[in-house]
Amino acid sequence: MATYDVIVVGLGGMGSSAAYHLAARGQRVLGLERFGPAHDLGSSHGGSRITRQSYFEDPAYVPLILRAYELWEKLERDSDRSLMTLTGGLFIGDPSSVTVAGTLASALQWDLPHEMLSAADLRRRFPLFRPAPHEVALYEANAGFLRPEETVRASLSLAAASGATLLFDSPVLSWSAGASSVEVHTATATYSAGALVVCPGAWAPTLLADLGIPFAVERQVQFFLDPIGGIEPFLPSAQPIFIWEGPPGTQVYGFPALDGPSGGVKVAFFRRGRTTSPDAVDRTIHDEEIAFITDHLSSRVPAAAGPFLRGKTCLYTNTPDEHFVIARHPLHARVTVACGFSGHGFKFVPVVGEILADLTLTGTTPHPIGLFDPTRSF
Ligand SMILES: Cc1cc2nc3c(=O)[nH]c(=O)nc-3n(C[C@H](O)[C@H](O)[C@H](O)COP(=O)(O)OP(=O)(O)OC[C@H]3O[C@@H](n4cnc5c(N)ncnc54)[C@H](O)[C@@H]3O)c2cc1C
Repeated sequence: MATYDVIVVGLGGMGSSAAYHLAARGQRVLGLERFGPAHDLGSSHGGSRITRQSYFEDPAYVPLILRAYELWEKLERDSDRSLMTLTGGLFIGDPSSVTVAGTLASALQWDLPHEMLSAADLRRRFPLFRPAPHEVALYEANAGFLRPEETVRASLSLAAASGATLLFDSPVLSWSAGASSVEVHTATATYSAGALVVCPGAWAPTLLADLGIPFAVERQVQFFLDPIGGIEPFLPSAQPIFIWEGPPGTQVYGFPALDGPSGGVKVAFFRRGRTTSPDAVDRTIHDEEIAFITDHLSSRVPAAAGPFLRGKTCLYTNTPDEHFVIARHPLHARVTVACGFSGHGFKFVPVVGEILADLTLTGTTPHPIGLFDPTRSF
């Protein structure tokens, strides 16, 4: 039987990155994934993800995102793929909104490049946007979009090139950890290794139940709309990504047109989804959902509010405070966990892989991950 140093369970965004970083550090890695490579049933699909540096969720994420940007560039070079495109980003809303005030606080604390635009400035510079007079925007040139499926494929192929064994269609049924080794069970085999990394995405409530964290899995819809008047003004050379906070708690976000006329423009709401489970999630997109987002956009980015082309459901795995969980498992010294990414984890994928490799090999990491402690009070 093959011998492994580390087993990685779940080869989505985080797990594929962990497998790559561990294999690149000379570990004999076994990766186990319940579905196929870069599938569309978890949290890392839909063609695009926003990346941004001035982090409204908490300035404590900024050092991590700055390291992630270095690693995104390295991943692009090593895999010879285009994964990150900086289009600039607009964070729009009332000056007191979380989106504007939080982004500005992060930018000021970390001295990140940004510009403040009044409603009139915004209309002039980016005529697709129709802010109300009291709204403002923070423009960040270093924001842009990432390619999630291509990223997962890049990490998987680099992991395999460094010697990792990657098994797909291999759901893990259970795992156990003892003083000297870990064991992982699938329907057909039992594998053992010195260490385990668990990155289960929306399956955290079952696979990591013993963390005792009240995760909430949330259904989200990514809408692809056919812009009114054509995609020309929406091309990435002209159009930044945006997050726009309207009525309290309502953030709509969108991307440039990335994939030609048939690709349309992708828009979605941040949060507001229904609580579900990955096995029971309703993957049908309903007419009233399409009408709701189109209506919401029609006064803000009217040209984006065109006919519905297609939609794709996706899952958030929320912790109560919406901060991540990344740590050695508090009950098992040989197990490291990364979960609860709460709908904003993708931009950190390469640095999470680096942190998971650090924690697995040394028990610690130079990165600031205090916010992600699974034993914090929820
Ligand atoms: C609609 C939407 C929009 C988003 N937008 C952004 C954004 O703009 N910017 C951003 O930074 N983040 C964004 N996110 C969040 C980000 O995409 C996620 O935080 C990230 O993809 C989570 O990665 P993961 O590895 O935890 O989950 P996944 O990529 O889902 O990986 C988990 C993997 O574990 C596997 N697995 C689970 N259980 C088992 C088992 N028992 N055995 C074997 N394998 C198992 C699953 O099949 C899956 O492949 C968005 C998410 C969604 C859904």
